[in-house]
Amino acid sequence: MSEGQLGAVKIDRDRLWRDLHRTCEWGKGERWGEGPTDIGMSRLTLSDADKQARDWFVEMTKSLGCDVKVDAMGDMSGNIFAVRPGKNGGPPTYAGSHMDTQPTGGRYDGILGVHAGIEALKTMNDLNIETEYDTGVINWTNEEGARFPISMVSSGVWAGAYTLEKAHNLVEVGGGKATQKSELERIGYLGTLEASYKANPIGAHFELHIEQGPILESSGGKIGAVEGAQAFKWFIITVKGRDCHTGTTDFQNRSDAMLTAAKLILHSHNKATEFGCLASTGILTLRPGSTNTVPGWVQFSLDIRSKEDFVVSKLEEALKRDFELIASGEEVGNINAQGTKGRGCTVEWQFDTDSPATKFHEDCIKCVEDSARDMLGTNAGSQVQRMTSGAGHDSVYTSRHAPTSMIFVPCREGISHNPAEYCSPEDCGNGAQTLLGAILRYDRLRAEKEHS
Ligand SMILES: [Zn+2]
Repeated sequence: MSEGQLGAVKIDRDRLWRDLHRTCEWGKGERWGEGPTDIGMSRLTLSDADKQARDWFVEMTKSLGCDVKVDAMGDMSGNIFAVRPGKNGGPPTYAGSHMDTQPTGGRYDGILGVHAGIEALKTMNDLNIETEYDTGVINWTNEEGARFPISMVSSGVWAGAYTLEKAHNLVEVGGGKATQKSELERIGYLGTLEASYKANPIGAHFELHIEQGPILESSGGKIGAVEGAQAFKWFIITVKGRDCHTGTTDFQNRSDAMLTAAKLILHSHNKATEFGCLASTGILTLRPGSTNTVPGWVQFSLDIRSKEDFVVSKLEEALKRDFELIASGEEVGNINAQGTKGRGCTVEWQFDTDSPATKFHEDCIKCVEDSARDMLGTNAGSQVQRMTSGAGHDSVYTSRHAPTSMIFVPCREGISHNPAEYCSPEDCGNGAQTLLGAILRYDRLRAEKEHS
């Protein structure tokens, strides 16, 4: 297709909005506003409501002429692949995301990406577009990790990051006995196709998603062309001092583990600011936990993130050095400049988990950008922005074995994993239009590359 022909391909924005809210009838959550769609979602993976959404997905894509892999049941992880035939064979170019939600989730996280993929298929059918290669839509299983506690576990199995057994044996949180496998069987979605990039390869993967952060909205951005996802590394830090009486022990004679932990957390924030990355503490435990005892033991989590692996390593190195100095009472970055020097504490680091930075494929990122600029016209300017995902997505795993990129659209106040999550009809439509344009551009590029 020429640029002019591509520019004339328009999705049906009203149909997208209607379809999306129709399937949100299954697994409705908390009402947060007066409007007909001001209701959150609580569609935990492999629940009865998820089965209804899956049944809809299968029926809809079949009615559009798709070949839905393995008797409509998907692969052994429950991932469903709907494929619309193109002129040539080979692995399809997919739009993928997820239809499961958090227990107190919204209507757009994941759901928008799947619906936009289906709207792309409908538009291609309406306009009799014949693609060079197969195209399709994927509904990934248990992206959220809310019910069976590993996020993106089934795209992870596809990518070879987890074994199928590990995913199947996950037990539901909250004391129940159901496993991911028993629930797949119960709702009829334990497929027979091997969940693997080798048995079921992907030609390319595009994922439309709400940003889940405030950057686009606050900068007037309309479309984010996502270049990759942040690296992160998690640690558990233990500070040891000595319990003592708060009334009888002067400051000079204390080994105050809580005061030291507070200084370390503040320093991690200051240092991360200096390095242009993120450091956060989300868990803090102290002992013994008494108003009139200075705590001698504190443990806290430390989460370091950057879009570059080397920045994470640099920050880790700096903090390992500085934490020890600060705990012993030495002056680093003005942290010990005020107050009273005590007897000092010790600091231990324990590695928890990590994930390297993900770099998406330049061809795919470019297709997203070109598609977004074409849609927004000559005034696109800074409305199209390259960005890095702060959160994990199924695309992180697909990118290990297939050219991948994501499309971000703004969501109100950056709020997500919350019933009040909201993406306007305009932004949903912009995202879906960009998605279809990116798929068609990639299809063309792939043919050009193969024939050159
Ligand atoms: Zn999501």
